[in-house]
Amino acid sequence: MPFECRGCWHVWQEDYVVRHTEDDHGNEADVWLRAGLRVPPPSSGAICPQCGCQQATTFPDGYLRRHPELIPPAEPRGPDATPLLSPVPRPLY
Ligand SMILES: [Zn+2]
Repeated sequence: MPFECRGCWHVWQEDYVVRHTEDDHGNEADVWLRAGLRVPPPSSGAICPQCGCQQATTFPDGYLRRHPELIPPAEPRGPDATPLLSPVPRPLY
């Protein structure tokens, strides 16, 4: 589920499992699980991992598909492993 911070506009994603439950009285409730632990619904305020503010909001489904530029790369591109050194020695002036 994608989140966006209203404080610093940081965008990140967290994996939640939502279980829709219904008790004996017919009251429906959504149980949010993260890593197997019950957590508050992110709609009540996720915490921004970048600035720590709790004014994060969720995106509607499909929002990030229309704005792929908002998705941070999964793995930052590191420096090229291939050295850029030329095998030919530089001429000495
Ligand atoms: Zn933030």
